[in-house]
Amino acid sequence: LLQANGIRRTYGSLQVLKGIDLEVKRGEIVAIVGPSGAGKSTFLHILGTLDRPEEGQVFIDGVNVFGQKDKDLARFRNEKIGFIFQFHNLLAEFTALENVCMPGYINGQISEKDILQRGKELLDLLGLAGRMDHLPSQLSGGEQQRVAVARALLNKPAIVLADEPSGNLDSHTALDLHQLFFKLRNDIGQTFIIVTHNEELAGMADRRLIMQDGKMLS
Ligand code: ATP
Ligand code: MG
Repeated sequence: LLQANGIRRTYGSLQVLKGIDLEVKRGEIVAIVGPSGAGKSTFLHILGTLDRPEEGQVFIDGVNVFGQKDKDLARFRNEKIGFIFQFHNLLAEFTALENVCMPGYINGQISEKDILQRGKELLDLLGLAGRMDHLPSQLSGGEQQRVAVARALLNKPAIVLADEPSGNLDSHTALDLHQLFFKLRNDIGQTFIIVTHNEELAGMADRRLIMQDGKMLS
């Protein structure tokens, strides 16, 4: 489903990614662990087409993603990829439900009624049924994180990229979230690539990869 070849990225004179290869099959759950500053977020942003590498290619569903026109890439991203940010990036002036539903409107393929229904279902699944009309500033850090998870899942993307999705959560809420990921994989075959410091999650994953100093060790 996803293949990355020879990904390199530098910031000024700093080489952050030093040639990374990765292949992920449909329905796999892959965890990426590694020390702070290793380049995990940078790599995930590139897989999510939110940033471009200086060298290397990413193929998703056989499409050379960076070979597309910007407009096509934006559409492709919204349809195929759900991204959960390390710092959740919710829109401050919109409610939880509005934030979650946002990706549904972009490509204009689902009716408003279906978007709202799915948004409510997801918030309910994530334990936020009573928080739908709250603004992000009225939510705790862990609640905001779960709203960001729901938003990433709204379009049922083939690939979900998650950067520390359980970083703000207590161990019980984190476990619920991890179980939701496994349930979605089993039910609808979604693929997850998850950057995490949570060793329990890394241990449950199909593969646990270690990133260090801009390289993938295993
Ligand atoms: P953490 O576990 O702390 O989230 P990480 O593995 O996700 O770390 P990255 O965020 O990918 O690490 O950062 C890798 C390196 O690239 C760091 O040294 C960071 O300072 C640097 N870096 C990241 N983004 C930029 C940027 N926009 N400009 C310059 N340097 C950057
Ligand atoms: Mg990071």
